[in-house]
Amino acid sequence: MADSARGHVDEEALDEVVRFTSDLIRIDTTNHGGGDCQERPAAEYAAEQLAGAGLEPTLLERTKGRTNVVARIEGTDPSADALLVHGHLDVVPAQAEDWSVHPFSGEIRDGVVWGRGAVDMKNMDAMILAVVRAWARLGVRPRRDLVIAFTADEEASAEDGSGFLADEHAGLFEGCTEGISESGAFTFHDGSGRQIYPIAAGERGTGWLKLTAHGRAGHGSKVNRANAVTRLAEAVARIGAHEWPVRLTPTVRAALTELAALYGIEPDLDDPDAVDVLLGKLGPAAALVEPTVRNSANPTMLHAGYKVNVIPGEAVGYVDGRYLPGGEDEFRTTLDRLTGPDVDWEFHHREVALQSPVESVTFARMRAAVEEFAPEGHVVPFCMSGGTDAKQFSRLGITGYGFSPLKLPEGYDYGALFHGVDERVPVEALHFGVHVLDRFLRTA
Ligand SMILES: [Zn+2]
Repeated sequence: MADSARGHVDEEALDEVVRFTSDLIRIDTTNHGGGDCQERPAAEYAAEQLAGAGLEPTLLERTKGRTNVVARIEGTDPSADALLVHGHLDVVPAQAEDWSVHPFSGEIRDGVVWGRGAVDMKNMDAMILAVVRAWARLGVRPRRDLVIAFTADEEASAEDGSGFLADEHAGLFEGCTEGISESGAFTFHDGSGRQIYPIAAGERGTGWLKLTAHGRAGHGSKVNRANAVTRLAEAVARIGAHEWPVRLTPTVRAALTELAALYGIEPDLDDPDAVDVLLGKLGPAAALVEPTVRNSANPTMLHAGYKVNVIPGEAVGYVDGRYLPGGEDEFRTTLDRLTGPDVDWEFHHREVALQSPVESVTFARMRAAVEEFAPEGHVVPFCMSGGTDAKQFSRLGITGYGFSPLKLPEGYDYGALFHGVDERVPVEALHFGVHVLDRFLRTA
């Protein structure tokens, strides 16, 4: 770390972020889906740390044990819009036998904190708590009101978490215009020495589809030109083979422009073929934008029939579709065409796409905070291929950014650690995160 960028938090904050990450990992908040999860002990832990910083956290549950925590820090400028800082408390399941260290041990070994949630996203929860508590000790107040929210149920439907908060407790988020949370400002090593820090300014929408093919049931030995299985298979094959056209959203366009400049390439972003050529030239860094230059629809499940010599009257398939901000209409009309007249489709689950401005003052301040502590890094905007709690909070008019800063050494593949085996985070990365988060939140 450069001498000019020592940071403003105290040593205690650097100790606490590590302890909090480890402690939160040890509180098993596995979200198995279907309502099978208990966030309450983690929520109580977070609330206790907030109360220790002189705040008055509120615990909120739609369902017993599925606890959310919200607290507000009053800013010095009452006319300024509030900023939401949110992190989820639940984690995806982990199979202990696959891991080098028990996934809920929170073990700190050779300067690395191990366990489920180390990057998604108990690290960020711990960073938020450490910064807030450092401010209480140091007498720091932010300019804007900050609303701190720790949510349940992000890893499933969000119905007991951010969805519930947005629907039932909008008043707690009064004045919030922007929010920050997971999946951004981590180090992406491109393999040739460049360190890229992608900050998320958008998310693709979720369109999980149920396809139903209808036909004429009958004996498997007879002629049947209305076979539901054949119809479904044809529709699924067309969807799987479809080449979605390139559509650049403002965020993805900005991402490609900045990456092209970083690699010394003259981009022609108005020619769709040239976009694919550019992606080819970006090497590993293409992974940051490739999933978001177009919509996508991947067939994932098939259900039909019960006996080999019986043609069923119906066949059902599922498709994981994702659409770009502004891309939902095209997604729908394309699916109408690809499924054809004999196959119906409906949204099994649908979530909005998000587009956040890259030209905003807040984005510039996030960029500056990262650059202060990682002067060798290159900040670029990017669009997330999937989604986060920001989708639910967008209903309150809150523009979401993915900003949970981590300086990762080479060999730490952030994408692979997410929901992966041996999820872990270096202590140094957490310290960097606290410095950058503190810097950003002070200036935001
Ligand atoms: Zn997450």
